[in-house]
Amino acid sequence: MKKPDRILELRRREMVEALGRYGIVNRRVLDAFQDVQRHLFFAEGSRETAYDDSAYPIGFGQTISQPYTVAYMTTLLVERSPAGKVLEVGTGSGYQAAILDALGYSVITVERIYELYERAKKLFLRLGLDIVVHFGDGTLGWKEDAPFDGIIVTAGAPSEPGSLLRQLANNGCMVIPIGDFVSQQMTVFRKTGEELQREVFQHFSFVPLVGKEGWEGS
Ligand code: SAM
Repeated sequence: MKKPDRILELRRREMVEALGRYGIVNRRVLDAFQDVQRHLFFAEGSRETAYDDSAYPIGFGQTISQPYTVAYMTTLLVERSPAGKVLEVGTGSGYQAAILDALGYSVITVERIYELYERAKKLFLRLGLDIVVHFGDGTLGWKEDAPFDGIIVTAGAPSEPGSLLRQLANNGCMVIPIGDFVSQQMTVFRKTGEELQREVFQHFSFVPLVGKEGWEGS
């Protein structure tokens, strides 16, 4: 292994240890964070920051979420829908989708910014990841690929999009931050037959979910 790779591997190990100290204890989730090389989802010049526990700009006013946030959402999903087909809304850098792929899910992800969609599609191809990427408004889900065992929304929504709830499989769950532009509460919806259960967790701060069933935007 080349020296820079070795350093990045050590930094990745430190990131995973830090996640453990912050309360992420699910072994499957921690192993996925150890397996996926987060620095590959960063531009060449900023890879040394990839293992800091912070969000980072990826262009077009968007960010790659901080590792703790990705791990927190992933844990909520894994504990309720441990396998099957997952829809991610908000591809961004592609990192969250790669984590879901490493966990063994069949992953479909949607991005509304064309340049980010294209960049992620090329990256998945280069890394040999079997992840389906769509370009479009993810607040409407992706009817052709539904139903989903899990849905994970990685941008802040004003409320739960009805289209996404309709595309959840029976016993499926959706993890979505809901609130205003400043702060959102992580919320989980679980569908059982006709029933919909809602659980609310801690606050986070996401970029807005823009679309027909999200915030208005250009
Ligand atoms: N999951 C990403 C990652 O691992 O890098 C980070 C997501 S970033 C915090 C939020 C992403 O959601 C942005 O790329 C943004 O363009 C996208 N987004 C916002 N509204 C969307 C929508 N209606 N449909 C699809 N993507 C959307």
